[in-house]
Amino acid sequence: MACQVVIAGGGFAGFYAAQALERLLPEQSAHVTLVNEANFLLYTPLLPGAAGATLDPRHVVVPLRSQLRRTDLVIGRVTGAEPTRRTLGVLRIDGEQLELGYDQLIVALGSVSRTLPIPGLAEHATGLKSLSDATALRNQVLSCLDIAESIEDPARRSEYLGFVFVGAGYAGVEGLAELQDFAVQAIELYPRCRAQGMRWVLVEAKGRIMQEVPASLSEFAERELRRRGIEVRTETTLAEVSAHGARLSVGEEIPARTVVWTAGVKPSPAIARLGLPLDGAGRIVVDATMRVVDPAAPSPAATTAGAPIAQVWAIGDGAAVPDASRPGQACPPTAQHAIRQGRLVARNVVATLGGEAPRPFRYRTKGVVAELGRNKAVAITLGIRWRGFPAWLIARTYHLLLMPGFGRRLRLLVDWNVALLFGRDASSPGRLGAPTPLEHD
Ligand SMILES: Cc1cc2nc3c(=O)[nH]c(=O)nc-3n(C[C@H](O)[C@H](O)[C@H](O)COP(=O)(O)OP(=O)(O)OC[C@H]3O[C@@H](n4cnc5c(N)ncnc54)[C@H](O)[C@@H]3O)c2cc1C
Repeated sequence: MACQVVIAGGGFAGFYAAQALERLLPEQSAHVTLVNEANFLLYTPLLPGAAGATLDPRHVVVPLRSQLRRTDLVIGRVTGAEPTRRTLGVLRIDGEQLELGYDQLIVALGSVSRTLPIPGLAEHATGLKSLSDATALRNQVLSCLDIAESIEDPARRSEYLGFVFVGAGYAGVEGLAELQDFAVQAIELYPRCRAQGMRWVLVEAKGRIMQEVPASLSEFAERELRRRGIEVRTETTLAEVSAHGARLSVGEEIPARTVVWTAGVKPSPAIARLGLPLDGAGRIVVDATMRVVDPAAPSPAATTAGAPIAQVWAIGDGAAVPDASRPGQACPPTAQHAIRQGRLVARNVVATLGGEAPRPFRYRTKGVVAELGRNKAVAITLGIRWRGFPAWLIARTYHLLLMPGFGRRLRLLVDWNVALLFGRDASSPGRLGAPTPLEHD
């Protein structure tokens, strides 16, 4: 009987694992199934571009079926697992509960925004982690301008013209830079708002923004943001959010209807329901080969703590894959790592099925790119630091090469060039996706 390989999660890690398995596994001997909530891979590094309206939101995703021809796709939500019976529970989109049996399971369920118990955060702030977040933020900027334009009282209007981003990693900085750039173009159509001006604030708990890049590049990025009038508050945290604004740890109240939370990620909640061993941060514990490890079981090798659970692997943001370049630490939650873990886990599954030993994951970050809007970016490639326009060209070329499929690349190129020629699109897709009731007043 054909071996059943099930992949839970079709993000960067799961998608690249499926793609490699299609190439490596003979069709007759194995059957690959991928379970994902949506029928697409979300290319998260381009989410800020979708929020900032240089890219059509549909163009920052890759339809899974167009790229995975030999993999069975189940669109639904992973609800749990029984490792002893080797089954995965899935709630399919039509509401039917399925139980998928597996011989090999690869868990690649990724992460969600990590929140803190800050009063008002869950009720009044938005994340930047999904396509809905990006679309909602773009709509929010336009609705705020529309409402502000019709308000007589400048004090009340300022709430709608205030935007606060909390968390200055690359997602926060890129998101803020793109959205602010978008708002600066859009506000030209709103005379009253233009006369009053907007306020954009970036709040970061640590001593500098963008900890992922060296200090010289982070200083360049901060200078660039300040030059555009963005206020950067380091060593500051968010104390409270309300419908009317944000209060910072230093006591300052910022009138704002838009608060965006980009302060880190935590493993996808479904991971805790799989009955697998987790570390203190809630990530699945794996050995260097990405096989799930039971820390309580006696280790067969003196080098590992615990015994590997045969047939279960975990990769991506939701797994604590040991980082060979930083002993004692897990790999950082980046797409670069997830992609390479996906490819290697596929090789390891194939090796295990053939009775060979799996290989350990070794990868040293090759570089970082972060766009700052206005044709500027910061980047490091193979140790070389880039800033400004050359870094922006590198960032765009990198994403163009990494985006799977020629058609998807072409869509990016067209969107970017149209935005360069005609500016960002200031139309609001508003209620798109929510049909108009047939009978309404
Ligand atoms: C705005 C932003 C910008 C970023 N920019 C960069 C960058 O420039 N460079 C970089 O290297 N990294 C970047 N990252 C980080 C990168 O996106 C992640 O590290 C990467 O996506 C991790 O891959 P993954 O496969 O583990 O998780 P994901 O890509 O998140 O995939 C997980 C998949 O599992 C699915 N899933 C989750 N729960 C369930 C469930 N219960 N049932 C079924 N399916 C489920 C999800 O829908 C998703 O498809 C960025 C992240 C964000 C948010």
